Amino acid sequence: MLIVPLIFASVFLAIATLGSIEDLKDLGIKAFIYYFSTTALAVLLGLIVVNIINPGVGLNISGFETDIAQAKEVPISELLISIFPSNIFASLSEAKILQIIFFAIVFAIASLYISKNQKGVLVNFFDAINDTMMVLAKWVIKLTPIGVFSLISYVVAKSGYETILSLWEYVITVVIALLLHAVIVISIIAYVVGKFNPLEYFLNIREAILIAFSTASSSATLPVSIEVSEGKGGVDKKSAGFILPLGATINMDGTALYESIAVMFIANLVGVDLSITQQIIIFLTVILSSIGAAGIPGAGLVMMTMVLSMVGLPLEYIAVIIAVDRFLDMLRTAVNVWGDLVGAKLLDNLRRKSL
Ligand code: ASP
Repeated sequence: MLIVPLIFASVFLAIATLGSIEDLKDLGIKAFIYYFSTTALAVLLGLIVVNIINPGVGLNISGFETDIAQAKEVPISELLISIFPSNIFASLSEAKILQIIFFAIVFAIASLYISKNQKGVLVNFFDAINDTMMVLAKWVIKLTPIGVFSLISYVVAKSGYETILSLWEYVITVVIALLLHAVIVISIIAYVVGKFNPLEYFLNIREAILIAFSTASSSATLPVSIEVSEGKGGVDKKSAGFILPLGATINMDGTALYESIAVMFIANLVGVDLSITQQIIIFLTVILSSIGAAGIPGAGLVMMTMVLSMVGLPLEYIAVIIAVDRFLDMLRTAVNVWGDLVGAKLLDNLRRKSL
């Protein structure tokens, strides 16, 4: 309910009020360097941890359900073309986030070329929408305790913990790697490059991480991420408005890390030893597929079919990991959102320094 109007308004405002195309280029380039390098580090860490623990070797997988109707292959070309909307109202009504962001960016850039008065009308209009959506987001935050309790009880009651136990080696590998990335890698980057205390920041924005964990959706968490980062997090509206919506759709460290481990786990189940070259292919395709994954539950798993087919692994084995996917999805989404929020603060600090 909140996402579509909020994304449009916040991306538009972030760019239209940025001042100049130069500022936009500067922030955009830095954002992409941050997204890309943290995702690459996440995949690298995933590959290192999975090569050390080596889960799934010799595991007997009979007895798992083999319904893989959910997983279908996604070609890269389709992914690229899907960024461009042919009808923006269709994109808005279907909540195609990347298309909405693309349109909001070009729309905002175009507004820099019209008269100041006219641009002022647009800025006022979207500013009002943005502020109203923020009030709604605050109401949602008030309901967090009840919402989180209900969502988590539902998941545990529905999927139980037996399946998680039977795949414990794989689950533990993913959990360890996700924790290392969130607690060590991202925090060091926050401290060294962003020059802020990650623990203090985490405590200020923790509602967003909780909501990410319980909804397993970066997009659904976005209104809350924007609210807490601008509020207690102290991030400027322009930085948050540009970096968080974009990050929620394309910056997914947790998803990338999870996919690299899942692919290696499937290779172990099948009994193939992937060479270094194949692991490099995994490294590259996992980054692409995490960029293409939507910020909704289970998207990372579906996108992983692209990686499996690149290295010639059978898609059927996805059925094995579907059983524990929801639990891992909750964790990887929390890491995705943490990465976005640290990115917003870090890039905001860099921007302030250069002003
Ligand atoms: N659920 C994740 C997210 O929204 C995407 C994924 O399935 O990995 O960030």
